[in-house]
Amino acid sequence: MIPGLLTWFVDRRRNLPWRRVADPYATWVSEIMLQQTRVEAVIPYFERWMARFPDVHALARASEEEVLQHWAGLGYYRRARFLHQAAFRLVKESNGELPRTSAELQKMTGVGEYTSAAIASICFDEAIPVVDGNVKRVAARFLLLDLAANDRKLHRAADEWGRGLMAQLVAADNPGQHEEIEQKSARAGALNEALMELGATICTPRSPQCALCPIRFACKAVKKDVDPADYPRSAKRTPWKVLELNLIWHQDGPLCLLQQRTEGWNPGLWEPPTVEQGIGEEICQVKHTITHHRITARVFKLRGPVSAPLTPPDAVPLTGLARKILAMCWKAC
Ligand code: SF4
Repeated sequence: MIPGLLTWFVDRRRNLPWRRVADPYATWVSEIMLQQTRVEAVIPYFERWMARFPDVHALARASEEEVLQHWAGLGYYRRARFLHQAAFRLVKESNGELPRTSAELQKMTGVGEYTSAAIASICFDEAIPVVDGNVKRVAARFLLLDLAANDRKLHRAADEWGRGLMAQLVAADNPGQHEEIEQKSARAGALNEALMELGATICTPRSPQCALCPIRFACKAVKKDVDPADYPRSAKRTPWKVLELNLIWHQDGPLCLLQQRTEGWNPGLWEPPTVEQGIGEEICQVKHTITHHRITARVFKLRGPVSAPLTPPDAVPLTGLARKILAMCWKAC
């Protein structure tokens, strides 16, 4: 066990809304929201979500459109659909109860290795490690691993390290062995959260604060006097693709012309229609990035009457690009 880590976590952990409730559903929702999204960005979404869908039953009863509306802005909308589908199945098969082991949790739609381990350890005290980007970074520095951030070997090494720590945690479940893990909150979930918290707040990507780190005395990066910021090594990035789109804008009072996407990214979400070639007056250009694409959207104002039905934009889930266009064009028209 790394001395001091759990004590540090118990004393210093951030007061996050999903940590204030002992509810597997809340942990599940927060873990799904936190994938690829910063904690600060997730907090208001989580609070709104829990106010509207306070339990699995409320989520299962909601329409997909309403679920997507509460997700709009978080991106990667498949996550919201999977939450919704899984809630529906849980209500049908287990009266809304979440499974209690990582193996069973992985049978839920959209719950993979990471999320299942997080829920099982935090809510049900299963001694299984969680490996996210923060844990990988701490492991790369603590163990001084000359590996790239996206190298599968780093994931395996961090997982192995975590399993070793978990084994020590279980073995030390004897009073008197390790002072810090005798505390009530010092269990499997706390160990996982401690490592993730350390990576998020102290062992940060660019400026690790080793002087404040509770595990610095055992850290190889410190012992070998290397710059921890050089670890893990830089990942090879997927090159960006450049995409140019033409969209049309038409507004009539509080309504505007929107279309529901049926394919490509963000199916089910709404945005102004795309056209092959620009028509009418170009009113703005909007830059947007999504999954390795850099998009430049040219927006053209459509004049004259429109036969297609118009939609109040706050009644439907919008794509990120649509929200940017709306912010610019709503003022301009
Ligand atoms: S001592 Fe520094 S490099 Fe090592 S784990 Fe702590 S913050 Fe990271």
